[in-house]
Amino acid sequence: MPDSETLGATARVNPVTYRIFPVNPGAHLFQVQCLIVDPDPQGQRLSLPNWIPGSYLVRDFARHIVSMRARCNAEEISWQKTDKSTWRCEPCEGLLEVTYEVYAHDLSVRGAHLDTLHGFFNGTSVFLAVQGREHLPCRVEIHAPEGPRYRQWRLATAMESDGADWLGFGSYRTKDYDELIDHPVEMGVFTLGEYRAGGVPHRIAISGRHQVDIDRLCTDLTLLCDHHIGFFGGAPMDEYWFLTMAVGEGYGGLEHRASSSLMCRRDELPQPGRHRMTEKYRRFLGLCSHEYFHLWNVKRIKPAAFTPYELDAESYTTLLWVFEGITSYYDDLALLRSGLISTESYLELLGQTLTRVYRAPGRHRQSVAESSFDAWTKLYKQDENSPNAIVSYYSKGATIALALDMVIRRDTAGRMSLDDVVVELWRRYGQESGGVPETGFEELAKELTGLDLEAFFDLAVRGTGDLPLRELLARVGVKLHLRPRGPGKDLGGKPGNRADRERPSLGVNFQVEQATVVIANVLDGGAAQEAGLSAMDEIVAADDIRVNSSNFAELLSGYDVGDDVKLTIFRRDELMNIRVTLQEPMLDTCYLTLDKEADAQAVQARENWLGISSD
Ligand code: ZN
Repeated sequence: MPDSETLGATARVNPVTYRIFPVNPGAHLFQVQCLIVDPDPQGQRLSLPNWIPGSYLVRDFARHIVSMRARCNAEEISWQKTDKSTWRCEPCEGLLEVTYEVYAHDLSVRGAHLDTLHGFFNGTSVFLAVQGREHLPCRVEIHAPEGPRYRQWRLATAMESDGADWLGFGSYRTKDYDELIDHPVEMGVFTLGEYRAGGVPHRIAISGRHQVDIDRLCTDLTLLCDHHIGFFGGAPMDEYWFLTMAVGEGYGGLEHRASSSLMCRRDELPQPGRHRMTEKYRRFLGLCSHEYFHLWNVKRIKPAAFTPYELDAESYTTLLWVFEGITSYYDDLALLRSGLISTESYLELLGQTLTRVYRAPGRHRQSVAESSFDAWTKLYKQDENSPNAIVSYYSKGATIALALDMVIRRDTAGRMSLDDVVVELWRRYGQESGGVPETGFEELAKELTGLDLEAFFDLAVRGTGDLPLRELLARVGVKLHLRPRGPGKDLGGKPGNRADRERPSLGVNFQVEQATVVIANVLDGGAAQEAGLSAMDEIVAADDIRVNSSNFAELLSGYDVGDDVKLTIFRRDELMNIRVTLQEPMLDTCYLTLDKEADAQAVQARENWLGISSD
C-alpha cells in the first residue's frame, strides 16, 4: 500500500486529493486516503453524508467505515468522532493524510459494492468531505485491484479524466465535493455501448452476467435521448453514462448530473436475435427514460430545499411530486413519442400507473404534498399499513401530471400543455437560481397558462380526493375502465378476465412468491379488516379445506359476495378460526382503451397529446 513517503507531487499542489484502492475484494473493502494540504489548524473535521441525493432516506453510510488513522507529515496523530458521521483530527500543520477502510457490500444503486466480480461506488459512501474545503477542486486517483484476476478490469464514470486513459484507472478530477459525489464509478468487466445524442457522446456500461443486443439498445437509446434533449431544447451535459448492473432479481435507478446508476434483471435487456418489444425490455427503457429525464428535472431544476444539499440530515420539501411525479409521467410518454412503443402499449403502462394509485386506500388519507414532505419516514420506510396510510408521490404525482396536462390542453383550447410549463420551469430554474420555491411550480403554471388552477392544485396536491380522470381522458378519446384485481400478478393496464368481476373480495394483499398464504396488508374497509384478520396472519384452511398460494384464489372464487367463510389461521404460533363475510370486489384495477366513437376533435386532441397519429 502506498504511504505518505510515496505521495505524488500532485497531492502537494492540489488542496484535496482522494485515492481509492479496492484493497480486498474478497472482504469487500475499499481503502481510501484523503490528503489535505494545509488543514484546518483548529483540527480538521471530516464527515460522510448520511443520505444520497435522489434517495430520501437517512442511510448513515459512515457505519461502513471500519477503520481509520490519521497522519500529519508522516507522523501518526489522534482523531476523535464528534458525531455518528464526523471525525476531528488533532490540530496539525502541513500535509494531513487520513486513511480509512470502507466495507462495501451493498449491491444497489445507492451505496458501494466490491467483490471479486466488480466494484461500484457512489462518492457518498467512500469520500469524506473535508469541512470548509467542500468548494475546492478534488483530485481522485482510482486504483485497480492488484492481482492477475483483475487484469481485464476497466473503469466507467462520467468523472473528468485528469490523465487517466479512456476506460482506465488513474487520475480524475471534479470541481468540488458536490460534483465528486455525483459521479458514480463502475469497475470490472462490462459490455460497452456507445452512441451520440444531441451531439453529445453517450455510453452504456453493463456489468453482471448477461446477454444483450447492444446495437439495438444503442439505437433505441439514441431515439429516446434525442427525444428528451429535443423536449428541453438542448443537452445540459458534455457526456452521459448509463452505468447498468444486470442481476437475476432487482430493479432501481438513481439519477446523476452526467450519468445514472441502473439495476435491472438480465432478461430486461434486449436479447440477441430477438426483435420484439417485450414488456421486460419496455420496463428497462422506461427506467432509462426516467433517469435521463432527471438530468433536467431534479439534477438541475431542484427544489430550493436542495440548494445546496444538506447531507447530514433530512431535507424537507413538499415538491417531490413535481420531481418524481412529472418525471414518472414523461418517462413512459417519451417511449411513445420517440416511437419505441405503440399507443396501446403506452395506454397499458398508464393504466398500470393509475392502478398503483387506485390500489392504495391511503390516497384518501395523505396528499402528495404530505407524501413528499414525509418521504423520509413514510414512503422510504413502508410497513404493512402503508397502503392504508400513504400515497406515492411517484404514481399519484404522475397522475396529477396527466390531469394537469389534460386541464391545460382543454382550457387553453390546445394552445398550451404541461410540456410548456416544464420547459419554462427549466428555463427559469434550470441554471443556478437557488432552486424552485415551495410555491414555485404552481405559480409558474398559473402565470404561464393564464389559467386559474388554484382549485386544481388544492384538490390534486393538497387534497386527498380522486381526480376526474375519466372525464379528462374522455376529452382526448380515451376510455378509463375500472375492474377488480385478478388472481396472481395482476399489475393492471389490461382488461382482465370476465370471471374476476364476480370474484368476491377478502380485502387483503398477500405476500408474493410464497407457498403459504400470508397476508401482507389488510386494506381499509375490506372484509378481512371487518372480520379482524391481521397482516402476517397465515391462512391455512378455508371451511376446513387446506389452502396454499396456488389454490386459494380459485377456492375463494367458488363463493359468492355475502357468503361467510371460516378461515383457519395462524397468528404468530396460535391457531384460530375467523369467520369472514366476503364483499363486493374492489374496483382498484385500471385499464385504458381508445374510444372508437371519439369525434374528430377528440381524436385531434389525442394525437396532439401523444405526439403521434394514433390510428
Ligand atoms: Zn426518479
